[in-house]
Amino acid sequence: MPRNQQILLDNRPQGEATASNFKLVATDTPALQDGQVLVRHHYLSLDPYMRGRMNESKSYAASQPLGEVMIGGTVGEVVESRHPKYAPGDKVAGMGGWQEYSVVDAGQPGVLRKVDTTHVPLSHYLGAVGMPGVTAWYGLVKIIAPKAGETVVVSAATGAVGSAFAALAKARGCRVVGIAGGPDKCRYATGELGFDACIDYREHGDVKAMSGALKQACPDGIDGYFENVGGYILDAVLLRANAFARIALCGMIAGYDGQPLPLANPQLLLVNRIKLEGFIVSEHPEVWPEALKELGTLVGTGKLRPRESIAQGIAAAPEAFLGLLKGKNFGKQLVKLI
Ligand code: NDP
Repeated sequence: MPRNQQILLDNRPQGEATASNFKLVATDTPALQDGQVLVRHHYLSLDPYMRGRMNESKSYAASQPLGEVMIGGTVGEVVESRHPKYAPGDKVAGMGGWQEYSVVDAGQPGVLRKVDTTHVPLSHYLGAVGMPGVTAWYGLVKIIAPKAGETVVVSAATGAVGSAFAALAKARGCRVVGIAGGPDKCRYATGELGFDACIDYREHGDVKAMSGALKQACPDGIDGYFENVGGYILDAVLLRANAFARIALCGMIAGYDGQPLPLANPQLLLVNRIKLEGFIVSEHPEVWPEALKELGTLVGTGKLRPRESIAQGIAAAPEAFLGLLKGKNFGKQLVKLI
């Protein structure tokens, strides 16, 4: 059985996460028992939620235990199988974690699924045709529920979730406005992702400037907002929101290292009768098949061409993850393992 390099959570961050919170080790892969398969990971997904798991505080999911392999989505290939439904060569997606191989009890529901790479590249099953894509779908379809012609806005617009959001919202006839960090990301948003407009928040670094930019980009106001960031961007959106606007509260990455995220004018939620709903995508398994079907079609037909930031080799995972929390990624952040 092969040697397996793994990254463990070694200690918890005090404030900002650092590379010293992680530890690289190598172990022998155990021999397979009946019902198990050995998966060689081709790509590891890095996602903002992992920052929350590194803390010990109360949350919607249990903390990542110290000394264990970091949690994470993976795609790869079955290299050995003692389960009748899987054979060597099968391409699979699962939650293998930050390591090169995983031994999976393949009979357990939801731990492993075969994926078809005929029209969709394997790596996209961690992004547009995976958890981040379904996240965009849920917030848009189930919470914002836009009508054609409405204006919807998304922050972290060029990331894994934001780019899928744009394609899904355009398919529903919306005006789609993104908020992203830097001119390159904004050019890419309008040039490649189909956004009607994109605002560089680094150029509009306070509520007044952001609210002015939103007024220009959203002349008919904002009907739906998909929140990924928090802080003054949310304040500015509330100032431009229409009556009965809907906000899908998906993430607040500006606060993941413990920064406070005060809300300047919460009364606007009342004045404009706004619906604001937080959600966790893994709690809605019922929508995944429908969402993945639409996302797979968008990718397969070239209507969604997601960009990826690819770090090379398992040892690069911690720095790539820390970069994701600072916007150094451009598109879905992955680690390529082979
Ligand atoms: P991305 O690929 O979008 O990467 C994160 C992006 O966040 C960075 O590229 C950066 O983009 C932006 N960012 C980071 N720090 C800040 C900051 N301080 N202020 C503004 N923007 C910042 O990640 P995902 O698409 O995977 O995730 C997007 C959001 O969705 C996250 O908040 C995540 O936690 C959330 N999420 C929630 C889920 C749920 O079930 N509720 C499921 C999946 C994701 P830029 O350079 O443009 O600022």
